[in-house]
Amino acid sequence: MSKLTLPEEAARRRTFAIIAHPDAGKTTLTEHILLAGGAVRAAGAVKARGDNRRARSDWMKIEKERGISVTASVMTFEHDGKMFNLLDTPGHEDFSEDTYRTLTAADCAIMVLDAAKGIEPQTLKLFEVCRLRDIPIITFINKLDREAQDPMALLDEIANRLQLDPSPIWWPAESGNRLRGMVQVGGDGRFQPYTKKPAGSTEDVPHPAALPLGEAAQYFEGSEQADLTDALELVEAGYKPFDRQAFLEGHMTPVLWGSALRHFGIEELLKAIGEWAPPPKVMPARKEAPPETRNAPTPEDITVEPGRDEVTGFVFKVQANMDPNHRDRIAMFRMASGSFKRGMKLKVQNTGKQLSVNAPIMFFASDRELAEDAYAGDVIGIPNHGVLRVGDSLSESGLVRFAGLPNFAPEILQRVRVKDPLKAKHLKKALEGLAEEGVTQLFRPELGSDFIVGAVGQLQFEVMADRLGEEYNLDVVFEPSPYAEARWVAPAGDGTRADLEDFAGKYRPQMAVDIDQNPVFLAKSAWETGYVSERFPKISLTKTKERG
Ligand code: GDP
Repeated sequence: MSKLTLPEEAARRRTFAIIAHPDAGKTTLTEHILLAGGAVRAAGAVKARGDNRRARSDWMKIEKERGISVTASVMTFEHDGKMFNLLDTPGHEDFSEDTYRTLTAADCAIMVLDAAKGIEPQTLKLFEVCRLRDIPIITFINKLDREAQDPMALLDEIANRLQLDPSPIWWPAESGNRLRGMVQVGGDGRFQPYTKKPAGSTEDVPHPAALPLGEAAQYFEGSEQADLTDALELVEAGYKPFDRQAFLEGHMTPVLWGSALRHFGIEELLKAIGEWAPPPKVMPARKEAPPETRNAPTPEDITVEPGRDEVTGFVFKVQANMDPNHRDRIAMFRMASGSFKRGMKLKVQNTGKQLSVNAPIMFFASDRELAEDAYAGDVIGIPNHGVLRVGDSLSESGLVRFAGLPNFAPEILQRVRVKDPLKAKHLKKALEGLAEEGVTQLFRPELGSDFIVGAVGQLQFEVMADRLGEEYNLDVVFEPSPYAEARWVAPAGDGTRADLEDFAGKYRPQMAVDIDQNPVFLAKSAWETGYVSERFPKISLTKTKERG
């Protein structure tokens, strides 16, 4: 039992995600953060855990073959009086939709840049999602042990391309073979020396303790120490000092440096997360009875404080069939408030269904454990049999509804067919299951009996075919469809339902519904989408849909 009050428990949570372009070092950094946080004992443990899990779950074969991680999960650890929840996001760009949804559950993001490459395309995309959702960003510039770009050029790139004030917390002394360490900016000139790994050695050599820069001559050659002192003066005059308020408001990013692989700069990063990343945020929501409730009161806008008594939260991901012997589904539930106890009953806002959460799972880095209690900011896995869907809001009263979990219009649309026609009904169920999980999107044209499956990337179709085979015993083929884009349709501005029906009537063969029965227009080309938007100003065609 916790001796802390509910608001104190919430206030010590740090729920964050790491965003990076593939290969920038996200996996390596995750591992070393867990190491620094005392959550795993040896480097390599994260992968080992992954292998274990893969061995138990057939469908992840594809992950193994491709050497990529396609599922997002969470790792929880306690360090220095704080509870850290690290949300793991898949790195491959085909799975960016999953990543976007995971970010809805994060209060802070660590943006990892490769010191030689700076901002890369995927960094930019993910950054934009963070900005849209007001998620503050801590920057970690990785791979200093390799030849890096000029540090000032890297900071200029952050300022110019992201319109974000970089505030260096440390300053590196060279990079690659000449990397000597880093000095604290705006402090008392503390210097953290770096030790190279001796050539041919498999042992990691620890880095010496920090000391005042003036006393660190032994770590430099030639004029290096004087050069660093001069650089520090320029840096302190040239960049704004760290301002936590500006950071929380998304105008500033503290910049830290290091080498994930050589465990350099990691303690400093973890300390920054603990001190600066925000605790669980106050979330906007609506108080609303489930649809079709008789005499339901008018819905009202509310804000949910993390320290509020009632347990509330939302499902941002569903992981299915981790154990192929049981058709299990684990809904990843991000708590927004309250003090959760095992065995508690929670209600789903949009269906009014109640479920007893008897076997919630907490994902500790080293193992999975039953969660006895949890607080705002925590993520618990709730096993269920398809009752919970991505975007569902859960609460004790069943009246709290969080919005804002986006669905993105898919970029590839294909027709799916099962080879054995007797299994068509079976296929429908399986496709719906995968769409509920958010693996792919499913569109049911109003005419005909086809299913159109949409995905952000080609790899999703492969994962899907694999899972349909392994988990549902269905042999399917994907075929090209005549459609290039899917757009959600709704009346625009002063448009009405009648305008929508008028439009749908004219384009009947291209109208479909998604898994929630929302109308969707299947366009044959981007040109057609543009043409239709111009011709029907009273309806809107949108690329994202907020679920929940
Ligand atoms: P991810 O795709 O972002 O998850 O990147 P990984 O963590 O898998 O790293 C990609 C590659 O970069 C791997 O070969 C890592 O060993 C390497 N790497 C990661 N961090 C560092 C670092 O700090 N220094 C060096 N030299 N290599 C690194």
